[in-house]
Amino acid sequence: MARPWNFSAGPSVLPETVLQQAAAEMLDWQGSGMSVMEMSHRGRQFVQICDEAEADLRELMNIPADYAVMFMQGGGLGENAIVPMNLIGRRGAPMADFVVTGHWSTRSHKEAGRYGDVHIAASSALPTEIDGSARNAFTYVQAVSSWQVRPEASYLHLCSNETIGGVEFTEWPDLAELGAPDVSLVVDASSHFLSRPLDVTRCGLLFAGAQKNAGPAGVTVVIARRDLLGKSLPICPSAFDYANVAAEHSRYNTPPTFSIYVAGLVYKWLKAQGGVAAIEAANKAKADLLYGYLDASGFYRNPVDPAVRSRMNVPFVLADESLNDAFLKGAEAAGLLALKGHKSVGGMRASIYNAMPLAGVQALVDYMQEFERRHG
Ligand code: PMP
Repeated sequence: MARPWNFSAGPSVLPETVLQQAAAEMLDWQGSGMSVMEMSHRGRQFVQICDEAEADLRELMNIPADYAVMFMQGGGLGENAIVPMNLIGRRGAPMADFVVTGHWSTRSHKEAGRYGDVHIAASSALPTEIDGSARNAFTYVQAVSSWQVRPEASYLHLCSNETIGGVEFTEWPDLAELGAPDVSLVVDASSHFLSRPLDVTRCGLLFAGAQKNAGPAGVTVVIARRDLLGKSLPICPSAFDYANVAAEHSRYNTPPTFSIYVAGLVYKWLKAQGGVAAIEAANKAKADLLYGYLDASGFYRNPVDPAVRSRMNVPFVLADESLNDAFLKGAEAAGLLALKGHKSVGGMRASIYNAMPLAGVQALVDYMQEFERRHG
């Protein structure tokens, strides 16, 4: 069976070898006589799987010992509540600041408002002009030097890759330079996790749903500096209290065992590719190919400020929107799946995560060229 090219924003394409290994081990994991799905989460086999996944992730991301690694449930939206319940009151009055650069950080800001006093430190919700070019809402990031962070806040939240808008941070702010040295940085890295080196020591907490670059849906990775834990709000469910989860090595309650196992296989695949630096080089080549084509074409257009274009999620529009349906229909017939843009922005979006090979992006560009030739 030839697999189509899957450009879904998540859940999304997984490495074929990972799927093959999971299939081969489905009924009998390494002579245990059990599927991973059937194992006790406290039994020695699953403990080995879980601890190995954590060790591989620590190695891939250079996560130091003073950071806890937790495999949790609830996804990115769950973390939008779990983070404030754990951190917003850590310095006394519950206060948190937000950089709003798109759909996901907007949702994070809104959810955190249920738990304390929230403030927008910077926003790209309004159109602006950058370097002489007009930019629509959520297609740029305000210069870091203009961010207004409250020094008393418990944390500053940003979404380092806005999956819908296709806006990616290439660096994170130095909060001391912004006059807020005691504010911890919280990063939603869901859609570019493990796609490029991310320095966790620059932040207090980083979270990512696995279902894009790092495994199947069901598991959310949280990496948090240990000294921030143990100060949750009284309403925080004990199963979502990071202090409990970290103390029990992600086995305070029953974790999503099968998802953790498959995520662990993805980590091993990534190590075999040469690690995060190697995958970054591959991701850069794929993004360069697609953006290069988009920029050279008058038929398609990417609306994002080139300084913050995402290497993972590439939104684009056709100059003639009445051709959208024909574009998508033809793409599907050519084996190019899930290119429809998010309903809030329309147009198209190609998500080109770690497991999408260069050949898939080339197939997309070939199709786009052919479509332009026929309709341009
Ligand atoms: N944050 C980002 C950056 C996302 O892309 C998504 C999902 N696409 C979410 C949060 C929400 O994740 P979930 O659906 O797992 O709750």
